[in-house]
Amino acid sequence: MIPGRAATAQEANEIVKWSVDRWHGRVWSKDQPEMRVLGDLLSVVAEIRGFRLNVTDFLAEFATTIGPFIYEPSDLSPDERISVIAGHEVEHVHQFWRDNLSFLWGYVTRGEARAKFEADAYVAGFEVNYARFGELPPLAEMRQHVRGAYLLSVEEEAFAQRIYEVRAVGILDEEPWAFRPYSQVSHDLIAHMHLSYPDLMARKA
Ligand SMILES: [Zn+2]
Repeated sequence: MIPGRAATAQEANEIVKWSVDRWHGRVWSKDQPEMRVLGDLLSVVAEIRGFRLNVTDFLAEFATTIGPFIYEPSDLSPDERISVIAGHEVEHVHQFWRDNLSFLWGYVTRGEARAKFEADAYVAGFEVNYARFGELPPLAEMRQHVRGAYLLSVEEEAFAQRIYEVRAVGILDEEPWAFRPYSQVSHDLIAHMHLSYPDLMARKA
């Protein structure tokens, strides 16, 4: 296998724009007053539930999507932007348009629903990376990310991990250039990139 090369900033801009437009989303900088308010609010909720949430990390490192609006932190690399923004966060935009209020309500009030939405978004992000580099992130990384960040109980966290594992095991049986993505968002994005940016994608040696 020949892995895809790293994307340039310009390519990442075009690819993120393509995916966001395709699913009718909008990207803003994470550095907005409402994100500070949300960060403060989440840290209070987290504390009540026995988690810790660092507001500075929340603003600097985590992209956040609310409805069709993606709030992007400033320090993602071009390759991270492609998997995190064009993949993971756009999957949340798709979930919002597909499920509307039941998505927003379920996401906020039900840990189990939040676990499912997050696991599906992770799948979208890692499918994009698998198609580009033929590798999946280690399970430990996903665990690390899910724990605490989404205020999930131990059971809900395990549920998210199971969704991720099932998909990860399935994908590893298939070639990076010939698998059928589970996520419609990553399916469309990968097809677009094969067509317009073939050297960013993994291919047969
Ligand atoms: Zn997410």
